[in-house]
Amino acid sequence: MTNVFVSKHPLIAHKLTRLRDVNTEPKKFRELVREIAGLLTYEATSDLLITPRSVQTPLQTTTGWELKEKIGLIPILRAGLGMTEGVWELMPTAEVWHIGLYRDERTLKPVEYYNKLPLEPTVSVCLILDPMLATGGSAVATVDLLKRWGVKKIKFMGLIGSPEGIKTMQEHHPDVPIHLASIDERLNENGYILPGLGDAGDRQFGTA
Ligand code: URA
Repeated sequence: MTNVFVSKHPLIAHKLTRLRDVNTEPKKFRELVREIAGLLTYEATSDLLITPRSVQTPLQTTTGWELKEKIGLIPILRAGLGMTEGVWELMPTAEVWHIGLYRDERTLKPVEYYNKLPLEPTVSVCLILDPMLATGGSAVATVDLLKRWGVKKIKFMGLIGSPEGIKTMQEHHPDVPIHLASIDERLNENGYILPGLGDAGDRQFGTA
């Protein structure tokens, strides 16, 4: 699958297994979401543009590098919130723009309820954060609105994707790379990923 990157990192595999475990408590669950998000960031940002800048070491002046692009983190409420801290730790100057979408349980289609993006784009790269790429509806809707906002470089970062969600994203937005810790088997009739980890929002916020 072009544009779909599934991490092979042993740390991610280990942490994801603990995340899936039904006995993992919300505190540990949040910690794991944050850590995996940080590890995925390392891979998902490997093509960010950098520009040379002079730096004075204690011994002499040399040429170093700094990030050229303005980065926006786009957590999809509410489950994406937990990934934000892990990514932000590595890119503390990134802007965070929340997008609120809930899934209509009958139609399984996303409904927008929070979007405070300013008129003009303030960033050049957007990293969409949502742990579960399930039907793909929320991811597609978020990319739609970021493209309407005027951002050209958009990436999706999640923990687990379903084959159905990936297919939907690739049909609508083949230009958007998808970074995941795992591709699971399938969706169930309620739109949950199998084997998955359950409801990523409920498990982070203790509302199961
Ligand atoms: N959202 C979740 O939190 N879990 C799933 O399995 C699918 C969507």
